Amino acid sequence: MDTSAGIPAESKYSYRQFGFSANSVRRTILIIDGNPTNRNLLCNLLKDEYDIIEAESGLDAIEILKDCKDKVSLIVIDMILPLSDGQKFMEFRNRDPFFSLIPVVAATVKDGEGDEISTLSYGASDYITKPYNKEIILHRFANLINLRESTVIMNLLEYDRLTGVYSREFFYRHARAIIDQNPNKKYDIICSDVESFKLINDSYGIDVGDALLCGIADMCGEYTKERGICGRLGGDIFACLIESGDDYSDESMGEYIQRLNSLTPVRNLVMNFGIYHITDTSLPVGVMCDRAILAIGSIKGKFNRYVACYDNEIREKILLAQTITDSMETALEEKQFKVYLQPKVNIRNGKITGAEALVRWLHPEKGFLQPMEFIPIFEKNGFITKLDQYMWEETCRIIRGWIDSGMTAVPVSVNVSRSDIYNLDLPETMLNLVNKYGLHPEILHLEITETAYTENPKQIIEATTRLREAGFIIEMDDFGTGYSSLNMLSDLPVDTLKLDMKLVQSDNNDSGSRNILNFVVSLAKWMNLLIIAEGVETQEQVNRLKYLNCNYAQGYFYARPMPEEDFTKLLSESPIDDEVISCVFSPPNLELTFCDSNNKDILLIIHSSGENRCMLQETFSGQYCVAEAGNFDSALKFLKENHSRIVTIILDVLMPSMDGFELVSILKHDERLESIPIIITADEGDGLELRSIDIGADDFIAKPYYPEVISRRVRNLVDLCKYRRLKTDTYKKDKDTAALN
Ligand code: C2E
Ligand code: CA
Ligand code: CA
Repeated sequence: MDTSAGIPAESKYSYRQFGFSANSVRRTILIIDGNPTNRNLLCNLLKDEYDIIEAESGLDAIEILKDCKDKVSLIVIDMILPLSDGQKFMEFRNRDPFFSLIPVVAATVKDGEGDEISTLSYGASDYITKPYNKEIILHRFANLINLRESTVIMNLLEYDRLTGVYSREFFYRHARAIIDQNPNKKYDIICSDVESFKLINDSYGIDVGDALLCGIADMCGEYTKERGICGRLGGDIFACLIESGDDYSDESMGEYIQRLNSLTPVRNLVMNFGIYHITDTSLPVGVMCDRAILAIGSIKGKFNRYVACYDNEIREKILLAQTITDSMETALEEKQFKVYLQPKVNIRNGKITGAEALVRWLHPEKGFLQPMEFIPIFEKNGFITKLDQYMWEETCRIIRGWIDSGMTAVPVSVNVSRSDIYNLDLPETMLNLVNKYGLHPEILHLEITETAYTENPKQIIEATTRLREAGFIIEMDDFGTGYSSLNMLSDLPVDTLKLDMKLVQSDNNDSGSRNILNFVVSLAKWMNLLIIAEGVETQEQVNRLKYLNCNYAQGYFYARPMPEEDFTKLLSESPIDDEVISCVFSPPNLELTFCDSNNKDILLIIHSSGENRCMLQETFSGQYCVAEAGNFDSALKFLKENHSRIVTIILDVLMPSMDGFELVSILKHDERLESIPIIITADEGDGLELRSIDIGADDFIAKPYYPEVISRRVRNLVDLCKYRRLKTDTYKKDKDTAALN
């Protein structure tokens, strides 16, 4: 059978496919021989096992190879081809990195040492001489093909494609072999990591990133030359195995970093090195590398520190991290996390204006844990979102408790991690929460760190804009540690800047740091933002902040974070800042939120459902000063104190604790309150409409509310109210004048 399947019709060469090669197990051999009889002889020998392509000359063969690049598994070349022709072919084949891997067998006339040497010196892998022995030839060819194929696969995996150093698996294998074969020698594993490599790729482009990786690989290769091996473990992480003895100082490693810096356009490239001195040779090399990488973690971001060794301290830290991860879920279930509150004060008068909720962990075995010991772990493993939600809810519960026990509730700020912003629908989650506890969103301040804004501005800006629209107050935490540009700052939806402690505690005698603080404060003023100074510890700092016109302060100078009970006691005994009292109105035993604004006219909403109150609040907050009451007692007290400013009441008659009609009748029988119009709301079809009007309500609206309808009706009633008051005033004046006369 002689077919030309798979080869173009006008081919210069013949392709003989013998038998089936449906599953392409059959390999192809290229025979280069000027003599057809010789070619036939070989064909007959090989046809049971292989497909054959024949070429008459070396130049033909070059064309064939170019066309059937990865088809040819072995080449047989007749060495009595005109010398220059055969030589040219071999030169071509040897130069090409791919073809040079295809084994070449030289066919020589006679067995002799001279021929053998000359053919092999051209790069042939083997040679055969006539008369051919079929079995031997098949056996040798199979071996050659096999060897070549496994080398190709090995090459793909053994060396990292980009940098040419060992790939991870092969680094592990070779390192293992070296360690095992030299039981009397001591070795170290060094891993390296480029700081913010992703950022380099993003800002300088992939090519620069790749060139940098190749530079690092060269450096590692040179470093380990004749003393060890190196490999790329993945990404920007490289590993070296080297005989112990080097001192690995920050200075010596710093020099390598400097050299790398000179090779790349990246400015101030920083690399970190982690060392594991192999003490336990039985560990898998992967684990040894992990340890070196963990050591890197201990110096990340630290100025002028480039090298760290895996030691007991790091080991302890890892074990602690493990314990923390293992016990976090139970801790949440068993309420081991506690809210500690640290007061925020008005810097003018030192009175309390609010608090920040900070987490503490009462661990059953490890004792009292500070957030820095577990928050970073939770941020990595994602648990932070659960913890934060727990903290927010606990905070709402605490505020609710203050209101229920008749205290003045102050706003409390909670920390929002950046992953909360990605993982939750924050506005929805937060609104559900405050509604659940019948709180106004303004009483919950949200602290979002500045670096979150700079990392992912778009997503954060979108979420915070919505949160502010829902009524929450946004504080930018740790301000001065991130890199907000002026440009960006002016677009940010924030209400308050929280100056980072480093700024506040900076040396007042140092003009540089003094100027930075001054600048930041004036910037915030210019942007109409409030400023809280954090970490205030001394009278001197207080004076300076006062001088700069900073609004609020938080720090050990005033009080440390304290348990809920202590703060509640402090709050009930201390003077509260006037600004808070006018902002959050909560008389004894009443459930009421009232945010005073410049608008004099108050709309009072009496409704048991937080959701409905919230919706009404949204509809009216632009036009009136809205007060919300969740029960009748608080409503009545508020009415008595503010009646002259209340222009309309929206009342849900079906409140659980009291019949709304009773309230209407009280109001309509009180001389001071009777002029205030009342709109009663209830579900449609409850038959309450007639009764409402009968009893003296001024209007009735059925649920669901349509904002356009309800605002039009409220506007009418407000006009009515003003008209009534005008009338009473005139009437009163007339009466007074009459009395005078
Ligand atoms: P932060 O949000 O910047 O909180 C302020 C930190 O400064 C608190 O540390 C507080 O105790 C401390 N501090 C307050 N006044 C002073 C002072 O005068 N001097 C000094 N040296 N420190 C002062 P804390 O409570 O250890 O919390 C550390 C960090 O842990 C917080 O920094 C915050 O980033 C995080 N954190 C705490 N609680 C939570 C939480 O519930 N959720 C989240 N996501 N993070 C939290
Ligand atoms: Ca904070
Ligand atoms: Ca802070």
